[in-house]
Amino acid sequence: MPDKIDLKSLSQKELFSFAKAQGLSKYRVGQLLHWIYEKYTRDLQEITEFSKALREDIGKISYISNLALVTRQRSKDGIEKFLFALEDGQTIESVMIPDDDRRTLCISSQVGCAMACNFCLTGEMGLIRNLKAHEIVDQIISVNRLISPERISNIVFMGMGEPLANFDEVVKALWRITEFIGISKRKITLSTSGLVPRMLELPGRAPDVNLAISLNATTDEIRDRLMPINKKYPLKVLLDACRRYPLQLQRVITFEYVLIDRVNDSMEDAKRLVRKLKGIPCKLNLIPYNPHEGSGLKRPAHERVLAFQKVLKDNQMTAFIRESKGQDILAACGQLRGKRDNRENNACC
Ligand code: SAH
Ligand code: SF4
Repeated sequence: MPDKIDLKSLSQKELFSFAKAQGLSKYRVGQLLHWIYEKYTRDLQEITEFSKALREDIGKISYISNLALVTRQRSKDGIEKFLFALEDGQTIESVMIPDDDRRTLCISSQVGCAMACNFCLTGEMGLIRNLKAHEIVDQIISVNRLISPERISNIVFMGMGEPLANFDEVVKALWRITEFIGISKRKITLSTSGLVPRMLELPGRAPDVNLAISLNATTDEIRDRLMPINKKYPLKVLLDACRRYPLQLQRVITFEYVLIDRVNDSMEDAKRLVRKLKGIPCKLNLIPYNPHEGSGLKRPAHERVLAFQKVLKDNQMTAFIRESKGQDILAACGQLRGKRDNRENNACC
């Protein structure tokens, strides 16, 4: 509906201006926010708190956009992957990871990604386009509606895209997730490949969410090869920025380290990692590489992963092994590519 105003795309301030222009009281803005973000309303006509005449009046100039669900797949281990179509027909993926009383949603910030990390399937797509703030937020609203009465409790920006390369829209989305949907900033984690200037700008512009860095190597030589962004912001620059990063009390930076067989998983790497991260309040998530065709890279044997973790632990570092789930439906870290997948093992519900 190109001529109409999409109410989901408006910030609180813009909604107030919209209401004023339409001669609506401020109270109506609160009602709109409640219906869109808490009741997951898909259509203005569902807002029964408004009279029919008012709904029709507002409907002449505005509407509520919605992501269209294309497929919903459940993996053997309980992970769910949602493929959504945007208004222009592009598609993105979001992944829900249930865990006891938590429901974490891994959301996308871009269609594709320009960073071209050589171990990541999203990187192979290149960047198709940035998501608008409401397209980022609508992943949460849409999944909340689909899993109702359950609700998403935690958010990780670890789906498709590099969030800091879509800075302004991601910042807007972070405000709306905390203020409109009501998810605490402590329950949101933004993961970046290391766009240093944007990373340092984030705390002054957005709610204080948790920061995760995809590190993945301990030398510039290897990191240059795995993550081309390292040529622009090498390890020393990135880690110095981490040392300066203004952390809230009792918070730490999470470093993600994808372990790739014989590339970055040696004992020397583990020892170097300990030295490089000295003085940074942090924890480590070790993610054994999730293979995909054509990468030429391999997942290390489990013993190598354990040995790597042991070096870190012996040096008083907090290090978890994150076996990403959902591999049978290509929902694990680095496997999102926003395409309809017709493989037989994808149990579509
Ligand atoms: N662009 C951001 C966020 C999305 S990627 C970033 O890179 O941080 C989320 C995580 O998936 C990153 O930590 C990345 O290193 C990891 N990842 C990418 N491809 C992977 C693969 N094939 N196997 C395991 N982890 C992968
Ligand atoms: Fe982009 Fe992150 Fe994948 Fe790198 S790992 S290509 S930054 S999504």
